[in-house]
Amino acid sequence: MGNEQNEGKKFLESVLQYFDHAASFSHLSPGIISQIRACNSVYKVSFPIEVDGKVEVVEGIRVQHSHHKLPSKGGIRFSMQVDEDEVKALATLMTFKCAVVDVPFGGAKGGVKINPRTSSVKTLEKVTRRYAAELIKKNLIGPGMDVPAPDYGTGSREMAWIADTYQALKYGETNALGCVTGKPVGQGGIRGRAEATGLGVYYGIRELLSDTELLKGRGIEAGSMEGRSIIVQGLGNVGYHAAYFCQQDGALITGIAEREGGIYDPNGIDVQDAFKHRSETGSILNYKNAKNIENSVDLLEEECDVLIPAALENQIHSGNAANIKAKIVAEGANGPVTKDAEQILLEKGIIILPDLYLNAGGVTVSYFEWLKNLSNVRFGRMGKRAEESHFRRIVNAIESTSGKTMSANERALLIHGSDEIDLVRSGLEDTMINAYHEIRDVMDKKGIPDLRTAAFLTAIEKIGVSYEALGIFP
Ligand code: GLU
Repeated sequence: MGNEQNEGKKFLESVLQYFDHAASFSHLSPGIISQIRACNSVYKVSFPIEVDGKVEVVEGIRVQHSHHKLPSKGGIRFSMQVDEDEVKALATLMTFKCAVVDVPFGGAKGGVKINPRTSSVKTLEKVTRRYAAELIKKNLIGPGMDVPAPDYGTGSREMAWIADTYQALKYGETNALGCVTGKPVGQGGIRGRAEATGLGVYYGIRELLSDTELLKGRGIEAGSMEGRSIIVQGLGNVGYHAAYFCQQDGALITGIAEREGGIYDPNGIDVQDAFKHRSETGSILNYKNAKNIENSVDLLEEECDVLIPAALENQIHSGNAANIKAKIVAEGANGPVTKDAEQILLEKGIIILPDLYLNAGGVTVSYFEWLKNLSNVRFGRMGKRAEESHFRRIVNAIESTSGKTMSANERALLIHGSDEIDLVRSGLEDTMINAYHEIRDVMDKKGIPDLRTAAFLTAIEKIGVSYEALGIFP
């Protein structure tokens, strides 16, 4: 327990140090900076539940770091390691993450001290519903108030329980489904949310790989994803999808690190197949042709182009940073690199793609889901057919003027109107590309050498604008 608290404390310290460093480049007044930095509210709750005939007390927490825009937004984590400082650090990151990708929300995060791997589904449902009810009682959840989402140890199933509990207690509220995102598609979720964080990680890495200027002198050529060697830590939702999309675009996944150990194969590991192997055998180890790495953190120190820590915070610290050989560290997880470690990595010339930018794809698509819930209509429902008839007229005109007839496949491809998934992917890709270039502009204009400081500064300045616009701060 003491140790876990230390981990949370270290994490929060790192996040605040990152903030303070970036804020030193800002033109905003110290008062506004302090307000942007401060954690607005912390709500802790304990409630009893019955497990196998015995009463157990479960602890939950919800931190709303910032109310500069409403609702506040951020996931709910289920883990025995949950502690106040950790959740504060995560909520703080959410504020800046939303600002970096222009998602108009404040930052929040929740946690429940429960082990989702050893608890029965029945217990998890009871705990999730009760936690949601506790937040509802205090008006701490709602489409205009605070909107949770999945995080470590939770997924669409838990979000469905939360939405259902909210609807039951707020009977008849039209926008009720917007009280939580990351829901199953059948219950107001949006297509493309499940893979959004990992896909965003892929878009971010791809953008950096094509950045000739930034890669100059780093021992890595600018270009496409083709043939890049990638090691991923964590085959959960983020790590799996990030690795999958990079592989689809030609990268070689040379290492996968998980709790029970790691596997390494310089010729590349098929991510989907390795995932299946782990589900079937209960372990990532003993995967065909790959070398077992008993202590999976050793894998982080292997040679590769891109290392994607996509598990938990504080994974790269002052104790192992000097041994990292990757050219790029792409933060799929929140807070995987401590402030001390960052210093060491930057001195080695390693480029860090920071969490507050790189894993913002999840909250970006959560924003789209929330918009869908508020409008109560699926994206593409109104326009798809109109778009298709417009394209059909163009294709017909091309055929009649050229005198050539297109194949059925070509026609179908050209005529296809945008579905929800097309629009979500397009919005996500555009968001990740734009945010990357905004951060790079700030680096250039302010002479900032690293992406994290520039990302924090971009976010701080955007949030500052909303406070300054109020005119109440000198
Ligand atoms: N838990 C995710 C994160 O850390 C998603 C948050 C959300 O979609 O609100 O970004």
